[in-house]
Amino acid sequence: MSHSLLDLFRHLSKQKGAIRNFIAPAPCPVLKNFHISDHGDIHIRDCQEVAHKIREIKRQGSQNFQILTDYDQTLTKTGYVDGKKADSSFKALQDSTFIPHEIKTLTRALYEKYHKIELDLTLHPDEKSAHMIDWWEGNFNYFVQMGLKQEDHGNVVLNSRLLLRYGIQDFLSLGSKLDLPLYIVSGGISEIIEANFYAMLHNGETGEAEEGLREYWEKRVQVLSNRFIYENGQGIDYVRPVIHILNKQQFIYDTDPSIKFRKNVLIMGDILEDVQMVRESEHDIVLKVGFLNDLEANAHLMPEFMKTYDIVVTGDGSLQPINFLLKQTFAEELKLEDIHLHQDHKSFETIKTVFA
Ligand SMILES: [Mg+2]
Repeated sequence: MSHSLLDLFRHLSKQKGAIRNFIAPAPCPVLKNFHISDHGDIHIRDCQEVAHKIREIKRQGSQNFQILTDYDQTLTKTGYVDGKKADSSFKALQDSTFIPHEIKTLTRALYEKYHKIELDLTLHPDEKSAHMIDWWEGNFNYFVQMGLKQEDHGNVVLNSRLLLRYGIQDFLSLGSKLDLPLYIVSGGISEIIEANFYAMLHNGETGEAEEGLREYWEKRVQVLSNRFIYENGQGIDYVRPVIHILNKQQFIYDTDPSIKFRKNVLIMGDILEDVQMVRESEHDIVLKVGFLNDLEANAHLMPEFMKTYDIVVTGDGSLQPINFLLKQTFAEELKLEDIHLHQDHKSFETIKTVFA
């Protein structure tokens, strides 16, 4: 954990209003805010299979369960409150005032070169992976030249367009109540991801829950992502190997072999490759939830998403479908008698059939 980054947010939290809100506003069914309109639509490939997985997860209890999730566009939103694009962790840094114009142009050129390769479905995974490493290392080589301090990443986040999905507070609070290990596995930047959560956990927007959630974050949440190396407080290099969209599995099982110990896993991601972060042979039940955020632009991916994930949430929705699933599954452990969670919302009709 990065202490100087944490210290920055601890310090800022004493000044009221110094940290903006980082959680998307609640969807409002009556006065529909057309930018943040919905919890998303839920699609389930095979209700019986999902019901079986959930029964098994429930039977083995929360002590055998953990969560592996992507960060960019999975825990965060694709769309910002103004209806325009939200940031990713990379973009937040790249577009920040800490990166001079010349470097922005150079990283943009890398994007032009490698994004085409990233989308090329005909390329062998090993070849694609080699290109992704070149791309990521290229970016990091440029970023390192800036000699950023840890606190600078905090300021990047404060001025960013990063936005966590509505329901993140409930999601963390369920993780805390059930004492679930939560791994945030990202090809982005650890410092930015951590600063994003520190900001959200120090600005009062989670109310009375804040302290408990901070404890959970320190105790049970691990960010497995790219990280800078510091000397005398300045970034001088980055940790290798880099983690990118295609090598998450290798990275996480090498970094933290204890991931193998819990046999049942919920994984969450927003691209097809995210599903490969889990090594299925190490686990019993893997429940897979995919976010296909922009259904209009990516309708062609829907059949493949439905094949890959058990549950697909479309429409840049909230995390409430996941929270609903966790609450239903562990209702007894959580001592929940009646789950009032937007049960009247159309999105939850589909998911309720699993528990019927
Ligand atoms: Mg992502």
